[in-house]
Amino acid sequence: MLYDDYYVKSLIQTVEDWPKQGISFRDITPIFSDPKGMRMVVDAYVHRYMATDITHIACIDARGFLIAAVLAYELQKPLILVRKKGKLPGKTISQKYALEYGEAELEIQEGSVKAGDEVLLFDDLIATGGTLFAAIKLLTKQGANIKEVAAIIDLPDLGGSQKLRDSDIPVFSLCAYDGD
Ligand code: AMP
Repeated sequence: MLYDDYYVKSLIQTVEDWPKQGISFRDITPIFSDPKGMRMVVDAYVHRYMATDITHIACIDARGFLIAAVLAYELQKPLILVRKKGKLPGKTISQKYALEYGEAELEIQEGSVKAGDEVLLFDDLIATGGTLFAAIKLLTKQGANIKEVAAIIDLPDLGGSQKLRDSDIPVFSLCAYDGD
């Protein structure tokens, strides 16, 4: 289905002061409950990545899973889960990162990627980039290369997408919002 920027943006709801005062939360759940919107979003990524040499799709807990799982199925690529601490069984490697207040930790199963793998890393939204950089460390520590970072939404004023590009990591997002 042809991507319609106006249609997809009309589905994304901005919830002011959630989860705390001063945050404009960009809620993508209406995309999941709109079959046309869901297809448009997934197809946009399918068209972008179907003729590339990506070997794996990695995605970040939890909203990132929902689009990336469909994409991995469509592109017939292995799906790698980057999860919040304590969710993955077996041997894992973990990476702490800073949040606005305090810190958080992401984990990946040991051996889920290796040298020579070309990974598309997916999350729903890029803000400061802290989450994506933590995921990138987990993947590159195991030898993989990050082919591109993809997101539905970029918040360019928070600087994450620019930091990624400054680190020579290509970034693709479907839409952007000014401010935070
Ligand atoms: P960051 O690490 O600052 O780039 O934050 C990105 C992560 O936090 C993503 O996984 C988003 O799900 C979530 N996030 C940050 N800011 C927002 C926002 N304004 N609306 C919705 N999700 C957000």
